[in-house]
Amino acid sequence: MGNPKAFLTIPRQEAEYRPVHDRITDFGEVEQTLNTSERKLQASRCMDCGVPFCHWACPLGNRPPEFQDALYKGKWREAYDILTQTNDFPEFTGRICPALCEKSCVLQLSIDAPVTIREDEAAIIEAAFREGYVQPRSYRRNGKRVAVIGSGPAGLAAANQLNRRGYEVTVFERLEYIGGLLRFGIPNFKLNKPIIDRRIRVMEAEGIRFEVNADIDLTHLPEGFDAYCVCTGTPQARDLNIPGRELKGIHFALEMLAQQNRVLAGQTFSDKERVTAKGKDVLVIGGGDTGSDCIGTSNRQGAKSVTQIEIMPQPPVGKNPATPWPQWPVILKTSSSHEEGCVRRWSLSSVRFLGEKGHVTGVEVEAVDWLPNPDGGRPLMKHTGKKEVLKADLVLLAMGFLKPELPAFAPQVFVAGDAATGASLVVRCIASGRRAAADIDRFLTSAPAE
Ligand SMILES: Cc1cc2nc3c(=O)[nH]c(=O)nc-3n(C[C@H](O)[C@H](O)[C@H](O)COP(=O)(O)OP(=O)(O)OC[C@H]3O[C@@H](n4cnc5c(N)ncnc54)[C@H](O)[C@@H]3O)c2cc1C
Ligand code: SF4
Repeated sequence: MGNPKAFLTIPRQEAEYRPVHDRITDFGEVEQTLNTSERKLQASRCMDCGVPFCHWACPLGNRPPEFQDALYKGKWREAYDILTQTNDFPEFTGRICPALCEKSCVLQLSIDAPVTIREDEAAIIEAAFREGYVQPRSYRRNGKRVAVIGSGPAGLAAANQLNRRGYEVTVFERLEYIGGLLRFGIPNFKLNKPIIDRRIRVMEAEGIRFEVNADIDLTHLPEGFDAYCVCTGTPQARDLNIPGRELKGIHFALEMLAQQNRVLAGQTFSDKERVTAKGKDVLVIGGGDTGSDCIGTSNRQGAKSVTQIEIMPQPPVGKNPATPWPQWPVILKTSSSHEEGCVRRWSLSSVRFLGEKGHVTGVEVEAVDWLPNPDGGRPLMKHTGKKEVLKADLVLLAMGFLKPELPAFAPQVFVAGDAATGASLVVRCIASGRRAAADIDRFLTSAPAE
């Protein structure tokens, strides 16, 4: 532990977002960075608690006190070594992880100002790339081959870990680029795509093969592999089957988000194909993170207005006694996209879409009350009969994803990431990919010789 009293004298300092007027005009990353000395001061705030709840909260089991100490002392290489023992891709989590660890930091409990663990993580890996610490390594081959299906964070983590254990790894990806939702879901203003490309180059140099435009039939996996890791995500979005669903102008969130990322990568679309919010009244149905990304994208595309509605009630502001420390607090979240301008409303159920000449013009919604469930669990919804029409000529459905039904697989086939758990988080998918790689290794090394 570097400076035992730093947490008493040094306030939490976040790098903050670029000013709204500046960032709203482009799709560049919104988050800024601190300079090196400020970053080291932030690292010095870590108290190296006897029981580090941040380890417990991080799905990867990252060890923040250890890398904060190295960072505070200016030992960037050591910080990088510690961080990458548990995390294959800190450049992703350092940008887009909700930082479960910070909510369980003891400084969150005591002074509401946790250590800036996520930002420190990003600073360490960026320094590592800058200083040339991230170099392709070669691994002794063990003669066995593993296929990874799907190249999102789970597939990439599984591939990385298997490659390090000596397996010959091929990653098959249905789409034209590697990255899964990192590439074609999460907007560039949260994660710029050269960050993914930089990592893929290292993985390729270490021997991992990537095959794009390779749509694998999961009932007939490619031959010639000793084991498989299926990391195909949750491709099916939850629909809203209410009257008027057939109207034009109603899209799944990813139709817009993925297309916008493709446009930024240089692809072109005809006016008919293009899903754009330009000059439109946009209604986002779904109050979660995907909905928030639709807001940021709509504002950047030049929406006339953006409204986000959610069927559940507004979560408490600040603290929620139902989710006490060190749990993840279910409280109102205001993202960078919310700050950029939108109306947010809760406890609204969508009744029907309204339209003219085949195109959506609005959504009739009804206010609902949520009553405590006597059996515990999810509260019970009660209709109030109070209806109104929200004007919209673009509706984006951001209501989550369905857990896929996968075929019954043979014992040498393992499943990881969202495909295994349902929609989740990047950090959980990296952890899941790492676990699957360890399971595959155990399976292949304990298999009796033929
Ligand atoms: C809009 C949006 C924003 C998000 N923002 C965040 C965030 O800020 N922070 C966070 O932690 N999480 C976020 N998430 C969640 C996170 O992106 C996912 O949990 C994570 O990407 C899932 O990883 P995965 O590897 O399991 O699957 P995916 O990332 O979905 O990747 C699966 C890949 O498999 C490919 N595939 C599917 N079927 C086949 C097949 N048959 N053959 C070959 N390839 C196939 C797909 O094309 C895809 O590339 C967000 C999700 C969305 C939708
Ligand atoms: S990956 Fe996420 S939860 Fe884990 S230490 Fe980093 S920011 Fe915290």
